[in-house]
Amino acid sequence: MPWEQGPIRPPSEAGSLLLRVTRNCPWNRCTFCATYKGERFSRREREEILAEIRSLRQAADRMEELAGGEVTDGVAQEIYAAYGFPYFHLANWLKSGGRNVFLQDADSLVLPTGELVTVLRALKDTFPSVTRITGYARAATLSRQKPEDWRELASAGLSRLHVGLESGSDPVLRFVQKGVTAAREIEGGQKVVAAGIQLCFYVLVGLGGRDFRTEHPRATAAVVNAVRPDFVRLRSLSVQPGTPLHEQMLSGAFVPLSEDEQVEEIETFLTYLDPYDGQVVSDHILNLLGEVEGVLSRDRERMLEVCRRYLSLPEDERLLYRLGRRLGQFESLADLSGPRRAGVEEKLLHWRSRDRVEEVITRLKHRFV
Ligand code: SF4
Repeated sequence: MPWEQGPIRPPSEAGSLLLRVTRNCPWNRCTFCATYKGERFSRREREEILAEIRSLRQAADRMEELAGGEVTDGVAQEIYAAYGFPYFHLANWLKSGGRNVFLQDADSLVLPTGELVTVLRALKDTFPSVTRITGYARAATLSRQKPEDWRELASAGLSRLHVGLESGSDPVLRFVQKGVTAAREIEGGQKVVAAGIQLCFYVLVGLGGRDFRTEHPRATAAVVNAVRPDFVRLRSLSVQPGTPLHEQMLSGAFVPLSEDEQVEEIETFLTYLDPYDGQVVSDHILNLLGEVEGVLSRDRERMLEVCRRYLSLPEDERLLYRLGRRLGQFESLADLSGPRRAGVEEKLLHWRSRDRVEEVITRLKHRFV
């Protein structure tokens, strides 16, 4: 790998250039998260990051030379065949205008502000086409930044932060060892919004399990309402083997919600959200109802209607939809009366006769984690 890369980035940053400024997660204690378990956190040296930016520029120059100007699809394919994926990713990024950069890993704002500002400026100077620089950040870290930090970061080009809010309920945050309180989530979120940096909150549906199934969506909506982030991205909890939460699930200390109960929880969450101009996004394959998307001020009722429509289906239809969704055959409830229904029905009959439908759905979901 010519350039260092971390394991994940948000789906919305699929086309972004990835630049790793820290490695792994400085907290690494959330009981539901397996992403960095067993990995040590470290900061990359400023000089190392700057050298990487220069190396990306040199490679980009060579690609543009090879293309005789702008990188095209054909040139990107040639680069893939000759040099492999990291170069192909860079070529594709150039081809699409070289605008977005995503800073990895889990909490880029733990870097001293001066260092991060140097990196942001170097990125913009080296790649003048860059218009959006984003990164993950922990809410606890955001709340510690001072007003002057935010001013510097915003003016150096930090344009969006992705924050794993997960829940706005203190008991849930404590239970999953998130290392933050609702009050600090609000404080941190409000600072980002006040700095004019776009904010994206990730909400983990089902994280409170049965014990907090009412508290979790209500309290989470209260934090969102207090902060009013630009985006609220829904994620559905699927407990991963190997995590502490999985152990708690096996011991009975955590009782997960069924998929139908998760939809009920989304309905409660949407009901308590203010109809402001923030956008709800369901851009993850684990979300059962990908149609629950829209601008709150305009589409909240429609999104609620999707939840209600699903919940009012007969049990067999809900099961058929869940299976079709996990098989990648259904994208919306309308597919229940579409041409793919017959194929999914056939599979449902097959696994039902073996009493294995739920097991198969769980297995299919784990493919996406
Ligand atoms: S802060 Fe984020 S990356 Fe770190 S352990 Fe928690 S969920 Fe995982």
